Amino acid sequence: MTDAAAPALAVEDLHVSYGPIKALKGCSLRVMPGEAVAVVGANGAGKTTLLRAICNMLPSQGTVRLDGEPVRKLPTHALVRRGVLHLPETRGVLAGQTVLENLRLGHDMQPAATRPERSFEAAVEEVFRIFPRLGERRHQKAGSMSGGEQQMLALSRAVVTPPRLLLIDEPSLGLSPLMVREAYRVLRGFRDRGMSILLVEQNVRAALRFAHRGYVLRQGSIVREGEAAALGADAELFSQYLGVA
Ligand code: ATP
Repeated sequence: MTDAAAPALAVEDLHVSYGPIKALKGCSLRVMPGEAVAVVGANGAGKTTLLRAICNMLPSQGTVRLDGEPVRKLPTHALVRRGVLHLPETRGVLAGQTVLENLRLGHDMQPAATRPERSFEAAVEEVFRIFPRLGERRHQKAGSMSGGEQQMLALSRAVVTPPRLLLIDEPSLGLSPLMVREAYRVLRGFRDRGMSILLVEQNVRAALRFAHRGYVLRQGSIVREGEAAALGADAELFSQYLGVA
């Protein structure tokens, strides 16, 4: 049973270890329905581990709830069925497949029950309207495209089958400033349509400009949380926790 007033995602006291390395030391956070939340932190803070643990891609301890329902023991594919889309740092595009083939796979992977009613063709039309460059490259193999174009293709998966909860790892990683702006333009579109989003980022300023709320992750622990605008204006936070001037 789901509870309409429950957070879209609630993580409580999540622990992950890699052998002797404690990568997450009891993290708790929540994403309310329609909320965009950023987890920011320096290199090695545990951001990627956090998203992978939420998706049950690695062993963890603690509680993860989707719409109020505990899901930590569910396999990753069961989370996909519940409308969770995880876009990893590596972007998860299939290098040997064309743009269109990648979009088709993303569409077909989504269970019919959670797929929007519109046709694949209509979804692709929307993708090419948002990303004209993907339209020009529809028959090109994804592996031969630039990092920015591959990021567009990754983000397109959330256009083809809009998730209930988007988990996105470092959308600005390796992108030019222009492409970072482009990626966030698209994410703002998702946010403004009411998608629940959890984003982890090293690009603290971009993430906090985008999100409603933020958490600061440091060495596996959440050390600060608050309204994103307030965190973004806190110079001490940047120097003390994030090592950014
Ligand atoms: P980055 O931004 O550099 O990707 P991150 O904040 O995403 O960093 P994680 O990749 O989650 O951080 O790593 C958290 C900690 O766990 C780091 O100390 C890292 O070295 C360690 N770690 C991550 N993956 C493994 C692994 N497979 N085996 C051992 N240690 C790991």
